[in-house]
Amino acid sequence: MNILEIKNLHKYYHTHHVLKDICLEVKQKEVVVILGPSGCGKSTLLRCINGLEEIAEGSIQIEGQIITKDFKDWTKIRQKVGMVFQSYELFDHLSVQDNLLLAPMKVQKRHKQEVLEEVKYWLERVGLLHKIQSFPKELSGGQKQRIAIVRSLCINPKIMLFDEVTAALDPEIVREVLDVILNLAKEGMTMLIVTHEMGFARAVADRIIFMDEGQIIELAKPDNFFDAPQTQRAKKFLNLFDFH
Ligand code: ADP
Ligand code: MG
Repeated sequence: MNILEIKNLHKYYHTHHVLKDICLEVKQKEVVVILGPSGCGKSTLLRCINGLEEIAEGSIQIEGQIITKDFKDWTKIRQKVGMVFQSYELFDHLSVQDNLLLAPMKVQKRHKQEVLEEVKYWLERVGLLHKIQSFPKELSGGQKQRIAIVRSLCINPKIMLFDEVTAALDPEIVREVLDVILNLAKEGMTMLIVTHEMGFARAVADRIIFMDEGQIIELAKPDNFFDAPQTQRAKKFLNLFDFH
């Protein structure tokens, strides 16, 4: 079974038709990278999957749960789907540990000791266990972003969504965040990733989706997409990057 299945999804902001008949199937452990020019609907698509936006038409199936126009039970879905944004959205008045304990304890009602084990495991994995008692203002952007990733992982999601998570970071720091995501991919995390890091996209993706004006216009293996894009729009988009 596909862990995620999007069928004929449409989304409008007032009269603006921002997602037009999106269809997408994602298998467990698959990594799909979504590329496309600014404003083409990438963030909106991820936000629909995570219930941050209502959908107008179509359906989204996540691990057997089907979401349509009037779906309400988002708490359940958000425990299956973790999302990381460009802005870290950590609570400044809480320590790293308390930021990370918050959702698992308050929303999932799990016991502190059990969650704390997991928090420490993930912090170790991203190289930040020594920062467990620090506050966000004492961390660099890359460290905050790694904490934000850990926060999502601690809800034990089945799918992770990443929306341009390195876009606000200094170039020398980008790598440390991308490496965390690459490691998750190696371990079989199912992920949808929006990024403008083309080398990373090619390395991490099982499939590339190219969107333009609210539509998916290419869906291909990374090597095929980067070496032989099928549409003029994709060629034009790729020419903006100086990696080839
Ligand atoms: P991308 O992430 O690919 O840059 P977005 O999904 O953010 O694109 O936006 C798609 C389109 O929807 C853009 O034209 C954008 O201006 C518009 N849009 C995004 N969010 C809103 C909103 N909350 N209200 C109205 N229009 C929006
Ligand atoms: Mg966006």
